[in-house]
Amino acid sequence: MPLLEVQGLAKRYKAKDGTTVHAVKTVSFTLDSGQILAFLGPNGAGKTTSIKMIAGLVRPDDGDALIAGQSVRRRGRAALTHLGAVLEGSRNLYWRMTPLENCEYWGGIRGMKRKSSRQRGLELLDLCGLADKAHHTVQQLSRGMQQQVAICCALLHRPALLLLDEPTLGLDLEASDRIQALVRDLALHDQVGIVLTTHQMEVAQTLSHRVAIIRKGEVILENGTEQALAAFSGNTYGVDLTEAPSTDLRDRLEQRGATFDSPVSFRVVLESASDVYPLLDSLRPIGVLRVQRETADLATVFRHYVELDEPSKSLTGGGAE
Ligand code: ATP
Repeated sequence: MPLLEVQGLAKRYKAKDGTTVHAVKTVSFTLDSGQILAFLGPNGAGKTTSIKMIAGLVRPDDGDALIAGQSVRRRGRAALTHLGAVLEGSRNLYWRMTPLENCEYWGGIRGMKRKSSRQRGLELLDLCGLADKAHHTVQQLSRGMQQQVAICCALLHRPALLLLDEPTLGLDLEASDRIQALVRDLALHDQVGIVLTTHQMEVAQTLSHRVAIIRKGEVILENGTEQALAAFSGNTYGVDLTEAPSTDLRDRLEQRGATFDSPVSFRVVLESASDVYPLLDSLRPIGVLRVQRETADLATVFRHYVELDEPSKSLTGGGAE
């Protein structure tokens, strides 16, 4: 039995003008213990709404999420005992309280006794190297430290499943690395299953075992991260130019799924090696310094699925799948 089974979740909202917004049309995926799933999608694709339905904060119109076999819809309380969550924009911490007081408070919400919340809180803060900050108020801590404390608070009751919404957003490299190490550690050593929502493709690629991409409320790719990358690796080309293309040409390339690493170099997925010729034609009169097959990265895979007007169109207009 998977740790998390998301089955056809759907949610509609009434907008202010009376029209219906299909925030989530149909979202399904599964996750096992010890795995990290990167849940990716562009702004407004329906990630937060899906995560809130899994966390029991938004009632779905259709579908359900089963956590350790328990239905969030029908057995909310029982299912949610297995869940910890740090959601972007939510009140995950009280800023005027210390990390330890936050642990006591959030442990209490989870039905834990004060003493065991403190003990477990100290253990987790120590694991994050924050034991010496246990008695400072949260507002005195850096953003990275606050994020770590929020994750500690979500882990007090030893949940089997952790939902993390943008855990490394706005953090400097060192703080981001620390959070990533913690997330990796939780999956590897404690067998926690983690759903990670992020716009940072490098973080997603480094951490995830599986990837689910959502576009306009529907999951359009669910696969092992390595398999998703391998499927594109033979077809991904890196191109270096002698000068930056015009805004118009760059826009056209990006609409066809090209990812620019710098003003003069990009990666793109082609259907076959012979599609290199029409690509080069489209670049005229700009000089081409290098065209080379490359290993795909998650940003390229993501763009290919999400940013093409129609997923079945490639740069040269052929079928992509
Ligand atoms: P982002 O990456 O920008 O956070 P997201 O993928 O998390 O986006 P959601 O926040 O789930 O997307 O929103 C999906 C769609 O549903 C959007 O069009 C959004 O405007 C709409 N939506 C979300 N919540 C509500 C609400 N309470 N009332 C009306 N529309 C909503």
